[in-house]
Amino acid sequence: MFGVRKEGLSDEQRLIVSTIVELSRKFGEDYWQRLDSEKKYPSEFVAEMGRLGMAGLTIPKEFGGAGYGVKEASLVLEEINSGGGNAQPFHGQYYLSFMVSKFASQHSKEKYLPGLASGKLKMQTFALTEPEAGSESTKIKTSAEKRGDGYVIKGHKVFISRLEHTDLVVLAARTTPYRSAQKKTDGISLFLVELKGVKGFEMHRIETMFNSQTYEVFIDGLEIPRENLIGEEGRGFGYILDVLNPERILLASECIGDARWFVQKSVEYAKSRVVFDKAIGSNQGVQFPIADVYAKLLAAEKVRWAAAEMYDAGADERSVGELANTSKYLASECSWQAANVAMDVYGGAGMAVSNHVERKFRETRLYRVAPVSQNLVLAYIAHSVLGLPRSY
Ligand SMILES: Cc1cc2nc3c(=O)[nH]c(=O)nc-3n(C[C@H](O)[C@H](O)[C@H](O)COP(=O)(O)OP(=O)(O)OC[C@H]3O[C@@H](n4cnc5c(N)ncnc54)[C@H](O)[C@@H]3O)c2cc1C
Repeated sequence: MFGVRKEGLSDEQRLIVSTIVELSRKFGEDYWQRLDSEKKYPSEFVAEMGRLGMAGLTIPKEFGGAGYGVKEASLVLEEINSGGGNAQPFHGQYYLSFMVSKFASQHSKEKYLPGLASGKLKMQTFALTEPEAGSESTKIKTSAEKRGDGYVIKGHKVFISRLEHTDLVVLAARTTPYRSAQKKTDGISLFLVELKGVKGFEMHRIETMFNSQTYEVFIDGLEIPRENLIGEEGRGFGYILDVLNPERILLASECIGDARWFVQKSVEYAKSRVVFDKAIGSNQGVQFPIADVYAKLLAAEKVRWAAAEMYDAGADERSVGELANTSKYLASECSWQAANVAMDVYGGAGMAVSNHVERKFRETRLYRVAPVSQNLVLAYIAHSVLGLPRSY
């Protein structure tokens, strides 16, 4: 019942899943708990993923990757989370690999993709959010000014993850200010920033409610060579939109993995904990909430696979968008409900750090807010699918 469901998977897909199952045995819940209490990045886990060829899963074969689509990437992320781990570093790496493989200059592809595929390089971060822009990302103020044969960046970013551990960041900046752009989505450009020895990039860690390695960044005089511009100047928003669908599907997969983990823990505990001379799970007040969230988990899973298969088959962006956004919405509702169910089933034991439930509870709360809030997903469904008037 638990872990990724194998029905309908190809032999290659089953091999991917069993590789991650093995890895989750090696890096068990105590590993993730220790990192959480020490607020550390999962360096050993990420290195092992690289050695197993999982870092380059979504990089085209011509650059040394496995050339897989969003379905295989989803299997990996779901299985990591349903094993009690946290797949966030690979969430970033997988969808950014789609973007760079599709839109970056040939020079950047040849320079970076083979290293990313082998696990020697990491590209786990997209730097978009700014203090004053928030969900309204077209309002970013970070600027990229053309100088000589490159660009000089100045600006302020907030809540940017894993900066001390990634080699490459995809950074969004305005090459045309918001007020001068013809359309608000025009004038945003994306750059590949190498962080090794970087100058003009000052970061301060933001403590968060879970182990996130998140930073506020002040950028002043950061120089970027022209060939590290992704695609065409000013068209970055279109490239962001292009990877939003796979990004939503990947996020849904992490939530489905979390929900599976919570359901599994709840069932095990409900069977084994005896109060009033019987297992607590024999009370319908305990079993119905578990059954209820499990039913919702199956529904979220179906929509997620429909979205992933449509995307991998090359369906148009709008059709995929409906399912990708819906799957993100349903899956993050589901993982949060499952987290609360587990907390209730465990009673006081849910608060004990050694049971891992409180850690996953804190981790899965993020997905209702980031990378996109539930309200903004509902706004997409309202405006773009149902044709209701735009609220912004
Ligand atoms: C741990 C963590 C890691 C992160 N990592 C990254 C990263 O690596 N890179 C990056 O770029 N960003 C990152 N983020 C930022 C994240 O993407 C944003 O927090 C998220 O997009 C929401 O933006 P905001 O926090 O500014 O919320 P706001 O935009 O301020 O919104 C606040 C609330 O108002 C609601 N709201 C706003 N506008 C509307 C509206 N029109 N209709 C209805 N409701 C509305 C939202 O739903 C939300 O609930 C991270 C955030 C966290 C917490």
